[in-house]
Amino acid sequence: MKALRIKHNVVGALGMVAMFVFQPAMAAGLDGVQVLDGFRELVGYVGSPFLLGGAWIAVKITLIAMSIGLVLGLGLALMRLSRFRTLNSAAWGYIWFVRGTPQLLQLVFIFDALPLIGLRFDEVTTAVIGFALNEAAFSAELFRAGILSVNRSQSIAAAALGMGPLLTLRRIILPQSMRAVIPGLANDTIGMLKLTSIASVIFVNELTFRSQQVVGQNFKFFTVFGAAAVIYLFLTSGISLLQVWLERMFDHERDRKLTFSWFGLRASTPDAKPLDARVVLPATIQEPETNDHAWIGTLLPAESRTPRHRDEPFVACRNVWKSYGKREILRGVDLSIAHGEVVVILGPSGSGKSTLLKLINHLEPLDWGTIKVDSQYVGYREVPGGGGTVRPLHNLARARAEARVGMVFQHFNLFSHLSALDNIVEAQRQVYDVPRAEAEALGRELLKSVGLAAHADFLPHRLSGGQQQRVAIARALAIKPKLMLFDEPTSALDPELVGEVLGVMRGLADAGMTMIVVTHEIRFARDVADRVVFMDGGEVIEQGTPQQVIDNPTHERTRKFLNVVAN
Ligand code: ADP
Ligand code: MG
Repeated sequence: MKALRIKHNVVGALGMVAMFVFQPAMAAGLDGVQVLDGFRELVGYVGSPFLLGGAWIAVKITLIAMSIGLVLGLGLALMRLSRFRTLNSAAWGYIWFVRGTPQLLQLVFIFDALPLIGLRFDEVTTAVIGFALNEAAFSAELFRAGILSVNRSQSIAAAALGMGPLLTLRRIILPQSMRAVIPGLANDTIGMLKLTSIASVIFVNELTFRSQQVVGQNFKFFTVFGAAAVIYLFLTSGISLLQVWLERMFDHERDRKLTFSWFGLRASTPDAKPLDARVVLPATIQEPETNDHAWIGTLLPAESRTPRHRDEPFVACRNVWKSYGKREILRGVDLSIAHGEVVVILGPSGSGKSTLLKLINHLEPLDWGTIKVDSQYVGYREVPGGGGTVRPLHNLARARAEARVGMVFQHFNLFSHLSALDNIVEAQRQVYDVPRAEAEALGRELLKSVGLAAHADFLPHRLSGGQQQRVAIARALAIKPKLMLFDEPTSALDPELVGEVLGVMRGLADAGMTMIVVTHEIRFARDVADRVVFMDGGEVIEQGTPQQVIDNPTHERTRKFLNVVAN
């Protein structure tokens, strides 16, 4: 069926072309036989080694220059996105200059300038250098646009799993940005292939240049240039096809079997399932009932169940201050959490609850004060003999990975190009070097225990909010956390889906996990929390057992807040 359609299209296109050629030819007084002879001659030129040789030079320049240009372009894009002023300005200046000057002049300049500094290359190499340097500027902006198109929540989730910036770029950001980048890159490639003709100014003997030479001898403009056009069209069609193929591979919402991996830059996940999986919607897949959460206890490594120092609090925030710009968000927060304790943080929007969680995990740096998890700073190191002075560590990603703090976000932040299982496997493999088989086994086990065994191969967009959040919890558990942070895990869910997520969290609390939960679910707080902390205006206003804080709040602000939430 598909083959037939393609055949129809091809025949149609050829017919159109023939009409376009025949009509003016007839009008010019040529008869049919002459036109056909012309065609035959044109086909002869298309197959001529002289022109094909020229085409090969164009292809060679394009392939090499494009490859180099893309690498340089990615580098420039990262410089543009860097927070270091100098890098940013240097990249900006380069792009400004290259985009602002004609490529022809750039080529001539390189051709004349390189020998002056003692670098002598043949014409083709010079052309490659010229085109690569030019492409770098253009692809840099394409890459930058692609990277910016990926939601920042993806990098935050990666950071919370202990992934470093480069790893995050390679495994999470680039694969998701490729779909936005590929059409532009295909444009650039096609443009470059055609523009190699201007390299004739530096004596590169490529296709257009060769056709001109032939025409100069036999004056057969139409047949020779027509043949060159056909060759160009053939080559550029190849690029267009490659574009279609690449776009499919990087379209992470497609169901397909194609997989491809290049230096770990993952193009696709095998989301294509047995035929019936396509028809059955994710929500309707029957999962076995799982009310038994005893498994969770077995997953925690022994060392995370015994704190380093029994006499110290497991999480200790001391006089924590944090501002964004001039606004003070946290104003001297003191909070201690015991090992195995479940603490619910309540508080109005903007009171600094999320910020406090981010500081505990060192997703944001502190301004003042200290935070220790299991008697260790996260991302800081005590200066020896400095009387308690701390200094930030360079390798933050490693510090986060070693702290083993799991984090669950309001908007799930699942990696949208990875299946449920791969979301769980990713950090284990990339951060903790767990062997694939082991990581997948744990992944499947975790999925089973959050009631999603049959959904292992589903991409996030095919899961309901509640299912996504359960995968996100499983993902956080896969790094064997000592401490779990939940930032309003049910606020983005439809009311009927809240229960399934809270159920998993209850199980986790029962299994003895130390948890800090920011939530507005008062019933959950009452049933599960060992302690409730009420925050407002960046301060802890009051804290105590759920009965104390929820049923008999001493502070006016707490009472007001509870009134609003209860209604
Ligand atoms: P909560 O979670 O209690 O609603 P947050 O900790 O998210 O509050 O935020 C507290 C305040 O800090 C908010 O007013 C918010 O606008 C501000 N804020 C949070 N993150 C940033 C940031 N990265 N830059 C600037 N302001 C921020
Ligand atoms: Mg918040």
